[in-house]
Amino acid sequence: PVRVRFCPSPTGTPHVGMVRTALFNWAYARHTGGTMIFRIEDTDAARDSEESFNQVIDAMEWLGIDWDEGIRVGGPQEPYRQSQRMDIYADILQKLIDGGYVYEDFSTPEEVKERRKAAGQDVQLGYDNYDRDLTEEQKQAFRDEGRKPVFRLRMPDEDITFDDLIRGEITFPAGSVPDFVVARSNGAPLYTLVNPVDDALMGVTHVLRGEDILSSTPRQIALYRALIELGIAEYLPRFGHMPYVMGQGNKKLSKRDPESSLFNLRDAGFIKEGLVNYLALLGWAISGDEDIFTMDEMVKAFDIKDVQPNPARFDVKKAEAINGTHIRRLSAEVFVERLVPYLRGAELVSDPLTDDERRILEAAAPLVQERMQLLGEAPKMLDFLFKPDAEITMDEDALKRMPENLGEVIDAAADALEKVSDFTVENIEQALRESLIEGLELKPRFAFGPVRTAISGHRVSPPLFESLEILGKESTLARLRAFRE
Ligand code: GLU
Repeated sequence: PVRVRFCPSPTGTPHVGMVRTALFNWAYARHTGGTMIFRIEDTDAARDSEESFNQVIDAMEWLGIDWDEGIRVGGPQEPYRQSQRMDIYADILQKLIDGGYVYEDFSTPEEVKERRKAAGQDVQLGYDNYDRDLTEEQKQAFRDEGRKPVFRLRMPDEDITFDDLIRGEITFPAGSVPDFVVARSNGAPLYTLVNPVDDALMGVTHVLRGEDILSSTPRQIALYRALIELGIAEYLPRFGHMPYVMGQGNKKLSKRDPESSLFNLRDAGFIKEGLVNYLALLGWAISGDEDIFTMDEMVKAFDIKDVQPNPARFDVKKAEAINGTHIRRLSAEVFVERLVPYLRGAELVSDPLTDDERRILEAAAPLVQERMQLLGEAPKMLDFLFKPDAEITMDEDALKRMPENLGEVIDAAADALEKVSDFTVENIEQALRESLIEGLELKPRFAFGPVRTAISGHRVSPPLFESLEILGKESTLARLRAFRE
């Protein structure tokens, strides 16, 4: 059975690449009826933070990416935070040393460089495996000098080949990857050790991760082979490396790019349905001509071998369009609930909503649901319905291109609306048509534009007659009269 894992390091804020990795692992687990493991790789105390840890969990919960074993939910390999597993790593490191797989390296970086130069080699090649076969006497002599060794894994002297699930066969020729550090001189284990050790202990079958880590795969395979020989691992997992995500100007999207931050996207008004749909398209497609789908539909169709190796482009415009489609698919009730935090963020409504606010919101929501790509557009569209009459201010662009007889239009509208006793959409429309279109012989744009601006402060608003009905007669008249002053 398939066992996959998502194992972020809690540094910085969740970003698009990280979440795509979580999503693809999850979709593969759910598609195959396998197990999703969620572990936290927090062995770098200098860079990891509790805030970032909480943000990763927030991100997973928001998007609905759940897991079967791991932090919070537990499982057979508890704990799932690597910082709490140090004795496990110390034990395995010792076994690797005892088995001759890991050795002590006493060389300083300067010495390595000197030796490379002396041999006429490029210093960029890195470590030269010099300390592999030091005698006990040599090691003792270094210790007596006060040197503290780091711990390196001996790379096998043969090609390392594996069949990548996304990229096909990949070979790292013998000698191209130097022996690498698995633990610091104080014994602190590194990613190179703890990541494959935990994958082995947790029985991971498929390692699906970003292309940026491809270069560490031959090392992890070498370490895995040692673990298998020691009886710690049973089998080598399959590996699949997902394509890079490209941002603006065809540069790799960086964690530091603002559009890459998951919470920036959420603040802007992406809903989870839209964002998951878009993230799924970063390297995968559900079928040739369909790009709108739900998480369930993704799970049904997802197979890791359909992921494309070539770089994917993060196209904010396309993401927004997809988000808009998913916004339109929300039920009226859910849409209202999703809007609330954005309106609250703009301080337009209280917490909890008053009855009046809820009434306005429920009436107004259907007027805007069809018209937005991001929930963050809602405050600007709806603010005039929640603000007191005295706080309506005019946008600069709203007052351009007004008819010359602006005052006359507003007065006629106010007089006509004053006479409407039952303030419904139909009656409002009839009154305004009779007074402005027929009475003043105005084109609709010059008739209704000024009214819209007077009551909302904006050049565009949700449909006018409906807006006026929600606003009510009293506020409508007050705003029209105030506009004249
Ligand atoms: N902790 C690593 C990272 O966040 C995990 C990489 C992997 O999936 O092996 O980059």
